Amino acid sequence: MQIPFLNLKAINKPFELEIKEVFDEVLEKGWYILGEKGRAFEEAFAQFCNVKYCLGVANGLDALTIILKACAFPLEAEILVASNTYIATILAIKHAGYVPVLVEPSLETYLIDSANIEQKITSKTSAILVTHLYGKCCDMQAINLIAKKHHLRVFEDAAQAHGAKYKEKLAGNLSDGAGFSFYPSKNLGALGDAGAITTNDDALAEKIMALRNYGSSKKYVFDYQGINSRLDEIQAAILSLKLRKLEEDNHYRRKIASLYLNNIKNDKIILPPNDTLEDDVWHLFVIRTTQRDDFVKYMLSKGIGTDIHYPIPPHQQKAFTEWNRVSLPISEKIHKEVVSIPLNISLTENEITYIIETINIF
Ligand SMILES: *Cc1c(COP(=O)(O)O)cnc(C)c1O
Repeated sequence: MQIPFLNLKAINKPFELEIKEVFDEVLEKGWYILGEKGRAFEEAFAQFCNVKYCLGVANGLDALTIILKACAFPLEAEILVASNTYIATILAIKHAGYVPVLVEPSLETYLIDSANIEQKITSKTSAILVTHLYGKCCDMQAINLIAKKHHLRVFEDAAQAHGAKYKEKLAGNLSDGAGFSFYPSKNLGALGDAGAITTNDDALAEKIMALRNYGSSKKYVFDYQGINSRLDEIQAAILSLKLRKLEEDNHYRRKIASLYLNNIKNDKIILPPNDTLEDDVWHLFVIRTTQRDDFVKYMLSKGIGTDIHYPIPPHQQKAFTEWNRVSLPISEKIHKEVVSIPLNISLTENEITYIIETINIF
């Protein structure tokens, strides 16, 4: 059996006819950027997340960068961020002109460890930008409490958490604002780059709306030095139709996760936490093993694709030489041992069973 880690063509196949209709309709209409398709998606996604505002942007990195820019924190403001997040979370802080401060995650959940946050707060700290990594929400109750005590703002990187729940609320509605990515491989994916910002903050929303469009408050009137980061009509219309199936897709992801959690039994493998199985959206199913290289080779020899999210921690990347001498043992251990096995809506029950059986005899 051949099972690729992810097959985007298969993921989009169920929407083939509707997507082709979207192409025709938008072409015919002759309005391609910031139009009614964009507004319709913004409304639908705001409703889905149960937030007041959703604003489409060009990608997830821009979503995070624009939220932080909109806050206009003092130059050199420090923003706390998980040390094992995807590079984009950290780059967004840099691009907005601030200083990222790395906070070690929990080895159990791989999420920012709220117990490590307070020791990193200084007089320059302005915000905490949490990442709901792999589709599981961070411990927002504890994090929001710390933020309140220290007068910090809280934001979410929700790029891997479309539809993820935390105490009955959805990702994107758990802080002052959130950035989403609709990169093709995400739980809600476009056919190209796309992103969005959600918030309940009126002032922030108004500023973000300008910032994504050169800082324009109305045509050819510029109140801020903004950027060009707009969601186009084709992507917005595709996202609207895929959004209708998101709950069903996430439900199937939970089913696969539950099968993996209940049936993978191998002393060499550490499974992800299952304490919030029904709230998580399982963007990735990440296991841990000290024999990762052998595991990856073994799986490949059995026809199963795997991936690593992520192989090198941000502080050890060449892009951040200033951090290269810093020691972050939990992040380093995670980056050495994690490996993602296939979990996506195109997997069949036979394939899931084959993956489980293959892992059990590793
Ligand atoms: C995908 C992703 C991003 C960036 O999204 P883009 O649309 O690729 O810019 C940011 N953060 C996390 C956690 C992601 O997974």
